[in-house]
Amino acid sequence: MINTQLNENISPNIKRIIQKSLDSEEITSEEALEILKVKGKEFFALQCVADQICCEKKQNIVTFVINRNINFTNICYQNCKFCSYSLPATDPNAFLLTIDQIRDKVKEAKFAGCTEVCIQGGINPELNFEYYLDILKTTKQVDPSIHIHAFSPQEIFYISKLYKNSIEETLIELKKAGLDSIPGTAAEILVDEIRKIICPNKINVAQWKEIITTAHNLKIPTTSTIMYGHIESLRDRIKHLEILREIQEETHGFTEFVPLPFVKENPILSQLENIRLNPSYGMDDLKLFSVARLFLNNYIDNIQCSWVKLGPNFAQVSLNYGVNDFSGTLMEENISKSAGAEFGEYLSPEEIIKIIKTAGKIPAQRDTLYNILRYY
Ligand code: SF4
Repeated sequence: MINTQLNENISPNIKRIIQKSLDSEEITSEEALEILKVKGKEFFALQCVADQICCEKKQNIVTFVINRNINFTNICYQNCKFCSYSLPATDPNAFLLTIDQIRDKVKEAKFAGCTEVCIQGGINPELNFEYYLDILKTTKQVDPSIHIHAFSPQEIFYISKLYKNSIEETLIELKKAGLDSIPGTAAEILVDEIRKIICPNKINVAQWKEIITTAHNLKIPTTSTIMYGHIESLRDRIKHLEILREIQEETHGFTEFVPLPFVKENPILSQLENIRLNPSYGMDDLKLFSVARLFLNNYIDNIQCSWVKLGPNFAQVSLNYGVNDFSGTLMEENISKSAGAEFGEYLSPEEIIKIIKTAGKIPAQRDTLYNILRYY
């Protein structure tokens, strides 16, 4: 039962939805939309239930991974309207790492005790299929035990074109070369009408779903993400969650869900004519984390906050709103930085442990697949 204090000033409908969640019953999309709009006392009731479900499921443990990002090129011509990371090859700041440079970065990661490298890049027409295979093989040569979390579904789509083969055959080759899991990025909002405006040249919803489910069926796990707080409606956010829940019901291949707020300072999307931005503010972020915990309950166990996008202080607050993972140390995160995120490139394990402890949670280092490696 909901705490009597929380019963005050809560509409019967919200009370009913919250009670359903507490009873581990699945909530519908319409119900998720209702609780995404709550305010005042109802907001605190939502928080309380999201925290309770999360604590019970995770025994009050908040995990993190020691990892590093390797962004191997910022040359890209996809022209996503929200992206300030990509540049044309002619730009003085454009870069493409050589395989030797990538090898050095993996060596640094190994030296820093990373269990994972997260490797992504722009859709660079100078690349060929062998370059992608070499990234994977070289990484495993340096450290056969390091987990390679690499290539967004957009990149997988592009690599399959370079390989001139199906998505399935492409993934089989990448897996053979060392690919362990895939970031569920390039999802943005899984609503085609929105994608046509913010990323018209990207894969559509059906293609994203095909790549993700093919990976899951090949036993390549992926994360899942949402980029929110730009031009989408609350209903679009729920449609997105609905797609993730349907995929997970079928494949069980998602390891986590990561809400990524749109970095508002991004100059391109903000300046487009006829585009009205619908930015999210603190409470909107917290409501999305809580609703994700309730809506995805018994489907996706891990909800991650991105401290790079939210800032470490606000990320800490999210740990009381259904979030059980603090993401990673990262070391070098070019993409958010280019988009205007003001937070650093690296948090040490010691800093992360302190943040988690002062939130009243138990810190634990995990690997990419959420096996606990060490408690603190
Ligand atoms: Fe290219 Fe990715 Fe930026 Fe889109 S979001 S322009 S695919 S780097």
